[in-house]
Amino acid sequence: MSLDALRDELTEVLRDGVITDPAHLRTYECDALTGYRVVPALVALPRDAAQVAAAVRACAAHGVPFVARGAGTGLSGGALPTADGIVISLQRLRRVVDVDPVDRRATVEPGVTNLDISLAAARYGLYYSPDPSSQQVCTIGGNVAENSGGAHCLKYGFTANHILAIDVVLPDGTPTRLGGDAPHQAGYDLLGAFVGTEGTLGIVTGVVVRLLHTPATVRTLVADFDSTKDAGDAVTAIIAAGILPAAIEMMDNLAIQAVNATVDAGFDPDTAALLIVELDGPADEVQARFTELLEKCTRATRVTVARDAAHRAQIWQGRKAAFAAVGRLSPNYFVQDGVVPRTRLGEALTRIAAMGDAAGIRVANVFHAGDGNLHPLVLYSEARGEHDRAEALSTAIAELCVELGGSLSGEHGIGTDKACSMPRMFSADDLATMQRLRAAFDPRGLCNPGKVFPTPRLCGERPGPYRPHPLEAAGVIERL
Ligand SMILES: Cc1cc2nc3c(=O)[nH]c(=O)nc-3n(C[C@H](O)[C@H](O)[C@H](O)COP(=O)(O)OP(=O)(O)OC[C@H]3O[C@@H](n4cnc5c(N)ncnc54)[C@H](O)[C@@H]3O)c2cc1C
Repeated sequence: MSLDALRDELTEVLRDGVITDPAHLRTYECDALTGYRVVPALVALPRDAAQVAAAVRACAAHGVPFVARGAGTGLSGGALPTADGIVISLQRLRRVVDVDPVDRRATVEPGVTNLDISLAAARYGLYYSPDPSSQQVCTIGGNVAENSGGAHCLKYGFTANHILAIDVVLPDGTPTRLGGDAPHQAGYDLLGAFVGTEGTLGIVTGVVVRLLHTPATVRTLVADFDSTKDAGDAVTAIIAAGILPAAIEMMDNLAIQAVNATVDAGFDPDTAALLIVELDGPADEVQARFTELLEKCTRATRVTVARDAAHRAQIWQGRKAAFAAVGRLSPNYFVQDGVVPRTRLGEALTRIAAMGDAAGIRVANVFHAGDGNLHPLVLYSEARGEHDRAEALSTAIAELCVELGGSLSGEHGIGTDKACSMPRMFSADDLATMQRLRAAFDPRGLCNPGKVFPTPRLCGERPGPYRPHPLEAAGVIERL
C-alpha cells in the first residue's frame, strides 16, 4: 500500500479535487453518527463517473481502502473513513441529467439530493416518492446505498422499489450498469442485490429513478392520545381495517416537546402521543377512507384536520424537524432504528421506557408507526460521562426489536453502529453467505471495509474454539 503514490496519481487526474490538508480532512471524519470519528488519509472529489472510476482504479492498484460519501447524513456510521484509506465524495456529481415525463423516470448523478429530484419533476406533475426526513440534504447515492425510507414508504415502498437502474464503478474500477430503463430485466437481479449494501459493493455514479404522479388529493390529520398504547392500538386498528394511508407517524410527549421548542407545528404540548395520518389518491376514495379513518381514532382526545396545503406543510415540518429538534433537550443523542411487528408496538414502547428508566436515561420516540419502524432517540450528555451507558441502551433497544420478531434496522442501515449485533439476527451461515456475495464484488475487501459485518477487532470478541481452515482440513496447507 502506498498512500504517497496514490495521492500523486489522484492529483494528476483530479487536479483540485484532492484534499490532504488535515484541518479540511476533519470535515469528513464522521457522518451523522458523530460518536465515531476517524480522519481519512485523503479525500477525493471527482467531477464525473470517469474520474470516480479512475480514483477507484488507483485505490485498487495501490491496495488502498476507500469509502464513498454522499452528504454524510447517514446515522449508522456507514461513511466512517478508515485512517489508512480515502474518502471518495460524490458531492460534485450533482446534475439532474434528464427527466422523462412520458416514461416517468429521471436520470440523475449520485450527489443530487433526494428533494431536488422531486423539484425537477414537479413541472410535469411528478415526484420521487421515498422521502427521508433528511431529504433536503441527503443524496440519492446515499439513499441507494442505505435503501432509505421515509414517512410515505408505508404506501409506496422504499428506495429499492423506485430504482430502475444504477451505473456503478466496481471495486476494481470497472464501470458497469445494473438494471435497465425498462422495469423488468431478465437474469439475476443484481440491482436488487446492490441496493441497501451500504457502499460495500462499489460506488454508484448514476441513478435512473421511477417517478410517480403527484396525488390528486391529500388529507392529513393529527390525532392526540392519552398514551402511546392508545396511539399504537389506533395504528393496528387502521391497518386491520384495510385502510392504507400514505403515512402513519407517531411522536411521544418528549419528541413533541423538542419539536415545539424548535418550530411551530401546532402540536399540543400536553398530549402523551400523537399520530400524523395522511391519505392520498383520487378525491372520492380519499373522502370515503377518511371517514373510516376517523372511526378508528375514537380514543383520540382531539383530532385536528389540516385546513390546507400550508397547514399540512406545517405539520410535516414538525415531524421532519424532530431528530434535529431533540438537540434542544439534550446535548447528545443516538438515533436508534429498529423494526417490530406492528402488533407489538405497544409492548416495545413499554419495554423501551422501562429500559430507559433502569439506565437513568431519557428516550424520546418519533417513528414510522405504520411500518413498525421505531426511532427511539436516546438522550445523554457526553460531558457527564453518559456516552457508554447510552450506547449500551441504544444497542439493547435494537436487539430488543430482534427479540420481538423484528429487525435491527428499518432504513438507516447497519454501518459501524450495529455490525456487532448482526449475530443476534443472522446465523453464522447467513453472515458467511452475505460475505460471499460481498467477496464476489470485492474480493480484496477495499470497498468500505469494517461495515455491516462483525469483526473481532470491532466487536472485541474473544476468539472462539479453533476451527481448521478448509484447506488445512483438506491437507493442502498445515498449521504452524
Ligand atoms: C435529521 C436526519 C433525518 C433522517 N431521516 C431519515 C429518514 O426519514 N429515512 C431514512 O431512511 N434515513 C434518514 N436519515 C438517514 C440518512 O439521511 C440516509 O441514510 C441517507 O440515505 C444518507 O444519504 P447521504 O447522502 O447523507 O449518505 P452518506 O451518509 O454520505 O453515506 C451513507 C452510506 O452510503 C454510502 N454511499 C454514499 N454515497 C454512495 C454512492 N454514490 N455509492 C455507493 N455508496 C454510497 C456510504 O459509503 C455510506 O455507507 C436521516 C438522517 C438525518 C441526519
